[in-house]
Amino acid sequence: TEFWAYAVFFVLLTAFLFDYKLVLFVNIGIIASTIISWIINGDALITQYNIRSVLILRGVCLILSLTSLQLITYFGGEFLVKKLEKISESDPLTGLYNRRNMYQEIENKLSKSVPVSIAMMDIDDFKTINDKYGHENGDEVLVKVANIIRSNLKNVDLAFRYGGEEFLILIEGDNNAAYQIISKMNEEIINTNFKFGKQNFKITITCGIADSSESTDYTKLIDIADTYLYKGKNSGKAQIIMK
Ligand code: GH3
Ligand code: MG
Ligand code: MG
Repeated sequence: TEFWAYAVFFVLLTAFLFDYKLVLFVNIGIIASTIISWIINGDALITQYNIRSVLILRGVCLILSLTSLQLITYFGGEFLVKKLEKISESDPLTGLYNRRNMYQEIENKLSKSVPVSIAMMDIDDFKTINDKYGHENGDEVLVKVANIIRSNLKNVDLAFRYGGEEFLILIEGDNNAAYQIISKMNEEIINTNFKFGKQNFKITITCGIADSSESTDYTKLIDIADTYLYKGKNSGKAQIIMK
């Protein structure tokens, strides 16, 4: 019982201190093989002089320890690969997706038989925000905008940081459905009060929305959304433009 108390304590402690899943797998493996080696080397078995049962037991133990090591390697490796994949796909500042798999994701979505929209959103006069309040506060604005985008997305929708202060939002639905979602984001963004020291300010965004009824070619669809975005930029900014 003392051993089990130590084992459980050890597993829990390291699991909480480090990455719990990987540590849990490794610990279970270590403990399993320790128990197995105790059984294999146990005096009790040797003094019985029952060679046949000792051999069978050792064989079983060997298979068990090999299996547990393989499980550790497999699940541990898979876990790390998934984690690295996630890191490589996301933008470190905002946590949104970066462009790595963006075109692939858009193509996948367009190949389904559902309407798809692409929204290109760009923060208005962001250069001025950086100049007035500093680059670091500019970063904070980006993070807040990204959080608003993320919190208004459905599970099937994806948001990418397309450029510095430009976001591409992939939405399942036609441009009317996308317009609803983007309007909600816009509402939240323009109502957000940014406060840096004594300075208070608000921001606006301009957005262009194109849907798969205009083109099912992903580069063309991005271009169309971009055209709407620039139409909005050239006619006063702070608006959502679509067909
Ligand atoms: P417009 O309304 O036409 O979009 O004007 P704008 O000033 O927002 O657009 P412009 O493309 O001229 O400037 C974008 C600025 O965004 C320039 C760049 O310094 C800044 N920027 C790009 N990436 C980052 C970033 O990661 N952090 C911060 N703080 N600024 C960034
Ligand atoms: Mg801008
Ligand atoms: Mg821009």
